[in-house]
Amino acid sequence: MAPAQNPITSKHVAVIGAGAAGVITSRELRREGHSVIVYEREKQVGGLWVYTPKSDSDPLSLDPTRSKVHSSIYESLRTNVPRESMGVRDFPFLPRFDDQSRDPRRYPNHREVLAYIQDFAREFKIEEMIRFETEVVRVEPVDGKWRVQSKKSGGFLEDEIYDAVVVCNGHYTEPNITHIPGIKSWPGKQIHSHNYRVPDPFENEVVVVIGNFASGADISRDIAKVAKEVHIASRAREPHTYEKISVPQNNLWMHSEIDTANEDGSIVFKNGKVVFADSIVYCTGYKYNFPFLETNGYLRIDEKRVEPLYKHVFPPALAPGLSFVGVPAMGIVFVMFEIQSKWVAAVLSGRVTLPSPDKMMEDINAWYASLDALGIPKRHTHTIGRIQREYLNWVAEECGCELVERWRGQEVDGGYMRLVAHPETYRDEWDDDELIEEAYNDFSRKKLISFDPSYYLENGR
Ligand code: FAD
Repeated sequence: MAPAQNPITSKHVAVIGAGAAGVITSRELRREGHSVIVYEREKQVGGLWVYTPKSDSDPLSLDPTRSKVHSSIYESLRTNVPRESMGVRDFPFLPRFDDQSRDPRRYPNHREVLAYIQDFAREFKIEEMIRFETEVVRVEPVDGKWRVQSKKSGGFLEDEIYDAVVVCNGHYTEPNITHIPGIKSWPGKQIHSHNYRVPDPFENEVVVVIGNFASGADISRDIAKVAKEVHIASRAREPHTYEKISVPQNNLWMHSEIDTANEDGSIVFKNGKVVFADSIVYCTGYKYNFPFLETNGYLRIDEKRVEPLYKHVFPPALAPGLSFVGVPAMGIVFVMFEIQSKWVAAVLSGRVTLPSPDKMMEDINAWYASLDALGIPKRHTHTIGRIQREYLNWVAEECGCELVERWRGQEVDGGYMRLVAHPETYRDEWDDDELIEEAYNDFSRKKLISFDPSYYLENGR
């Protein structure tokens, strides 16, 4: 940890967004003694986890004038991380066997995650810091401070000055659409997973789902329940790939990526197979987007790289006044919010110092060079699941907080392997009971649970 150079100071800090990142960040900032205002465009906390049957008015979300929704959650979604690993470290995501409205499963549904975030906000009195239905429309540096312009739902604009701004606006709302040669003349329907909610509109259709990671694997199986045929296109697969996947409806196939889409409705895969499809569902990820940020071109987004960001958090020339919580894509998400925001809070109070802007830039360039050397494309700059524990522990040491538990890293890594190998069953069949036990024993040792670990272990089976 870098030693404090200055006396500890309290700052006036704006947090943008009251999703999981924003509520966790505001707790850490207040714990460190800062005064905090959280801006949230919606009426409640939860961000992505506030499910709505509504979706963008443009199913591909390309039209800039479309009406937008924030959430990308589909009705059948269950978590892709086990609950022991998902929760914040001093507020575990415990099953509530006593409450019928809750989902006690190890990989619960999306409503349970929202309930957990609401519980967290209630427990730590986060809502008193939040201005709901208030959208941040502009953030800019002014004489060493930060001007935040916000708009109330009635259209009323307000300008306020802060010492610092922490951006927690999420990055699963602005779809990334893969280009398919010939798609302009292809006559079928197209939708991005951001706008997918339920399978019903695909009844009896032939559907091509592009992408086979967490959402693609879920959505293809969801649609297979009602569709005639579902064909997954995966660029991670060898060009010759053509496999039948076992599902009860016997109607799901895996292909390599798409070669072309044609005017006659056909889709040609790189494996040479041709299907005449009614719909394409793009499960092709999301883009970073900070439409309110005005940094005179200093901060750029290029091929999903937000640059320059020191350790994915601080833009060197604008730090510590501007910081980002939640940019990396990894499995241990809520704990990442917790550790990154503890670092931001400690740097803002002066308890921890950052290297000079030049040194931070050196570190960023070394990171880019290491990605180049490994042949990792620019778009994966912030995809750091493979080094998540190492990264989080580096940040944790920097701000002097507890390191990430061994069981947490192992659970998430093991869950990821199960997801890849058995996407249809990984949430209900596992082989890491000893890690669950270790997790609950750990919660018990830290006095975070009121029952004996056996209560959770026995009821959860
Ligand atoms: P969000 O939840 O998106 O919150 C951002 C908030 O900022 C929103 O409330 C939004 O209204 C607000 N906002 C945005 N712009 C403005 C503005 N200009 N002014 C005011 N407010 C603004 N993670 C897991 O740990 N486990 C999982 O199982 C899991 N499953 C996932 C499934 C899907 C389909 C997706 C897309 C992601 C999943 N994730 C999962 C990752 C997910 O990103 C995190 O769980 C987390 O909830 C994201 O929190 P966030 O606060 O960064 O963003």
